[in-house]
Amino acid sequence: MSGQAFRVVAGAVACAAALATSAQAQTFPTRTVTVVVPFAAGGPTDTLARSLAQAMGTQLKQTVVIENVGGAGGTIGVARIAKASHDGYNLLLHHIGMSTAPFLYRTLPFKVTEDFAPIGLVADVPMTLIARSNFPPASFKELLPYLKANKDKVTYANAGLGAASHLCGMLFMSAIQAEFITVPYKGTGPAMNDLLGGQVDLMCDQTTNTTNQIKSGKVKVYGVTTKARVPALKDVPTLDEQGLKSFEVEVWHGLYAPKGTPQPVIDTLVRVLQIALTDPKLKTLLADLGTEPVAQNRATPAALASHLKAELEKWGPLIKAAGVYAD
Ligand code: ASP
Repeated sequence: MSGQAFRVVAGAVACAAALATSAQAQTFPTRTVTVVVPFAAGGPTDTLARSLAQAMGTQLKQTVVIENVGGAGGTIGVARIAKASHDGYNLLLHHIGMSTAPFLYRTLPFKVTEDFAPIGLVADVPMTLIARSNFPPASFKELLPYLKANKDKVTYANAGLGAASHLCGMLFMSAIQAEFITVPYKGTGPAMNDLLGGQVDLMCDQTTNTTNQIKSGKVKVYGVTTKARVPALKDVPTLDEQGLKSFEVEVWHGLYAPKGTPQPVIDTLVRVLQIALTDPKLKTLLADLGTEPVAQNRATPAALASHLKAELEKWGPLIKAAGVYAD
């Protein structure tokens, strides 16, 4: 083929590819979109994802389904999306674990900064330190001496290394200088069932999974992990105000597509995410569960990418210093 003929053919191929991408973006989505939640059903990430999926589905005029892929602190579900087809039909809703897993696991089958196309931040969710309803300490003041005296017996539920419940537990144990027996689950949905059944003692979990159980008195609460009290749980003091100075954990969540998802499809998803986050039903549900959607300027690929980078820089040294590894 002559140089000129080659350029003509190459130009035609590039043009056809651009047309296909733009046609894809105009028609996207033509079928069901799947959002992977890297934890079991019934937990906090699942709750957030399901309400977001409903609001996004209304905008996309397609069904958005949730697929729960729990295990290994969320990393199995993340790996699934890192390798999924990059056409906009496979998304991931994940939290702070995206920035802690690279330091907790010596090997991971994905790279958080290279294998994903960020879509936007979704919500920041406070956590609560809770216990089975008949756990003996009646207050946070009674809790600390009890934990120190019974640390070989006390069991602490979490959703595996890399889960927010693991991170909160790790920070709590280090703050009070006591270690308990940890019991890992595929998500704090099933962990909550065991806490309600009295099979496990303690858990630190997001308000999206604990608010209703706290309000109905089915679990005991010792404090919230944010600097200020949470409006949905205004009678629950912060851990900081009860003496655990500067103890603060808030769980940020982001929506991702696999790297290589066409830009016009990402643009559609960003627009739809931003509209979905203003949905009154979603806002009310989240407010009742102690959180709220992020402002529009944070529901963008750039905001999620820079937040992820800052969080990697924050957690890397802390986790390395703590010397915690999954393998
Ligand atoms: N977010 C997890 C879940 O939905 C729990 C966690 O991260 O601790 O189960």
